[in-house]
Amino acid sequence: MGQPDEVPAGEPVIAVAKPVLAGNEAEAAANVVRSGWVMQGPQVAQFEREFAARVGAPHACAVSSGTTALHLALLAVGVRPDDEVITVSHSYIATANSIRYCGAVPVFADIDPDTFNLDPKLIEAAITPRTRAILCVHQMGMPCELAAVLHIARKHRIAVVEDAACAIGSEILWEGEWQKIGRPHGDVACFSFHPRKLVTTGDGGMIVTANGDWDRQFRLWRSHGMSQQPAEHYPVLGYNYRMTDIQAAIGREQLRRLPEMIARRRALADRYRELLRGTEVTPPAEPSNARSNWQSYCVRLPQGADQATVMDAMQKAGISTRRGVMCAHREPAYAHEPWRAGGPLRKSEEAQDQCLILPLYPQMSEGDPERVVKALLRALATSMKEERVSRASR
Ligand SMILES: *Cc1c(COP(=O)(O)O)cnc(C)c1O
Repeated sequence: MGQPDEVPAGEPVIAVAKPVLAGNEAEAAANVVRSGWVMQGPQVAQFEREFAARVGAPHACAVSSGTTALHLALLAVGVRPDDEVITVSHSYIATANSIRYCGAVPVFADIDPDTFNLDPKLIEAAITPRTRAILCVHQMGMPCELAAVLHIARKHRIAVVEDAACAIGSEILWEGEWQKIGRPHGDVACFSFHPRKLVTTGDGGMIVTANGDWDRQFRLWRSHGMSQQPAEHYPVLGYNYRMTDIQAAIGREQLRRLPEMIARRRALADRYRELLRGTEVTPPAEPSNARSNWQSYCVRLPQGADQATVMDAMQKAGISTRRGVMCAHREPAYAHEPWRAGGPLRKSEEAQDQCLILPLYPQMSEGDPERVVKALLRALATSMKEERVSRASR
């Protein structure tokens, strides 16, 4: 083999993701530092207003991360020790961890393999008298089947928290019109500003809700439970989950460029779909009632292809990829933490083992998707050949 696996001379390495930080972010952060007020203050308040307007939410509360946003959202909807929360294992581990921070038990239901999101058909079988909430994920930016999830939740009087960590700017067709994820459609939705998401503040998160009481509660909790009315006192156990004004100033610049970032990402996703047509690789599905921001572009390899071999061959060709999204229930941490399977998790495990996240970020050049797909098909041919050889020698 050998020769096609070398990085072509003069061709840059293609990363799997890159934040877009080339605008006024540095200047905005420097201005905050020069102002002398660096902690949570006017920039955070302004970022919250602009974020709420952007997604169409009545209230938005900035916090230190997507994970702390999830923790507070679950507390607000009443998740308490030994309650159960139905969610997916097939997500970044923070989804399940936020349930454990409340002392509650994650109940993992399987995914729809086409969208990588919670399969609503499996929810009712997972409900028990202890079920307090459904934590649904808009995985990799793809809106989950919110209407079906909400229908079941309302029927059983269960709260719905949306893990929208990856889904800023994604849209869903709702009562005949396109709406942004984060109005929110469930009771609370949580966003992340980790650099792997579209809008970054280094670390950071946002909690959106239509419930003004909960919004006041979030503001109390994020700042040690401290109230100033009538004088400084601490009515509840709080946390230090604040965002700084330096972060918020960066976030405001990022948010301004979100529409162009999404347009570019959607064009790149269209290009991938075109290039993958007629190949053995299955591109991700986009249901007719959803518009993804394509935070990640996750393809499915054909049966018999070895994921690790393909990733390795692509890395040698100068192209970074990631395996499919992890499954929390397979991690050592969850050998020590309580959880329950709400049915088989085969599709979740297959998605982790058979899928591959391809590079996608706005700074990619016009020729990059083609270079990625060519390398992928070449790597796949190599992997299938090795598989046939090893099967023959068994
Ligand atoms: C990134 C992510 C989180 C965690 O967000 P942080 O800001 O890193 O804490 C939670 N859930 C999902 C689905 C994520 O992708």
